[in-house]
Amino acid sequence: MKQRPKVAKQRVIAGCIALVTLCAAFAPAPPTLTVVLDAGHGGKDPGNLGTGRYSTTEKDITLDVTLRIGQYIEENLPEVEVIYTRKDNSFPGLRDRVRIANEAQADLFISIHCDAFDNAGARGAGTYVMGMHKSEESLRVAMRENASMFSEEGYERNYDGFDPNDPDTYIALSLRQNVNLDASLTLGAAIQSQFRERVGRKDRGVKQAGFYVISYTTMPSALVELGFLTNPDEEDFLRSESGKAYMASAVYRAFRDTYLAARKEDTPVPAPPEEDVKIEKTPQRVEPKHDVWFGVQICTVGEPLKPDSPELRGRTDAKAYIRHGMHKYILGHHPTPEAAHEAKVALRADGFDGAFVVAFDGEDQIPMSQARGMTNPQTP
Ligand SMILES: [Zn+2]
Repeated sequence: MKQRPKVAKQRVIAGCIALVTLCAAFAPAPPTLTVVLDAGHGGKDPGNLGTGRYSTTEKDITLDVTLRIGQYIEENLPEVEVIYTRKDNSFPGLRDRVRIANEAQADLFISIHCDAFDNAGARGAGTYVMGMHKSEESLRVAMRENASMFSEEGYERNYDGFDPNDPDTYIALSLRQNVNLDASLTLGAAIQSQFRERVGRKDRGVKQAGFYVISYTTMPSALVELGFLTNPDEEDFLRSESGKAYMASAVYRAFRDTYLAARKEDTPVPAPPEEDVKIEKTPQRVEPKHDVWFGVQICTVGEPLKPDSPELRGRTDAKAYIRHGMHKYILGHHPTPEAAHEAKVALRADGFDGAFVVAFDGEDQIPMSQARGMTNPQTP
């Protein structure tokens, strides 16, 4: 007799499970991938003004093209969630754009911009990924786009230490974690291929530069310069319905063909190059008291990790530090970069694919170049 209620209870549970399963079968599948689309500028920040023949500016074209890219994705790839940093003429700061992407733990960040130059003959479309600029031109573009922050209230406070007009800022940026560089480069190459092959644009290539928005996002990121609004032909093209549709379609196709395909096959994000990002300029400082040491950074995340988080792979000895609002986890405490390098190689073999060496002076993370100068003062 005592068994009957139990049997009945089991039946109810079984019925509930069946119902839940049935509901799940008919409910739309949850998004498998999240992309953040970032229309450059907006509101009081017009972006570049183009030739001056029109009242519309860069911010109008970036918004229009960005909304079209999102529309193509939403219509054709229902499994992808699209998040916009703006969908109207509002002005999210550069930090807000980064925060939106990092908090959403997005899989991909694409920022849309238009270029400008003194010479009206300059033309072509280019894509940038995070890194140290290798040319004056890349530095020029990054400085111009980063200058958006001057339109923000209290930018000195919000961008502590980030001066878009100071080349040294980009040296510090170049040392940032970049496990996503290869994935970013792959996407960039696909976008440029689409621009060149399908839209017939002049291909300005994929380059690295220290743009704020793609430097502080923690996922594969690219910043697209659709063309030069200071070039009358390109401005007219980018203002036209067909021009905007072609350019948006090109970015959409590149996204669909590369990143989503890789994701569906569950291909891991490629490991970054063995070499750390090259530093073009070495600031040398001679200062009396320092406690320079080297650690191996194993991950960067927006929120603090629990000790059993998979990112830490059981390494409860990882120490966290916070920089630019991101939590970075470090293993080891080595006196020389060489010792840290050896530890890094071992950690990579252990599965920390993106591990790289970072330098500290006491509690502060400092550029590797600066640390080398401090640990080995004889080095010229
Ligand atoms: Zn721009």
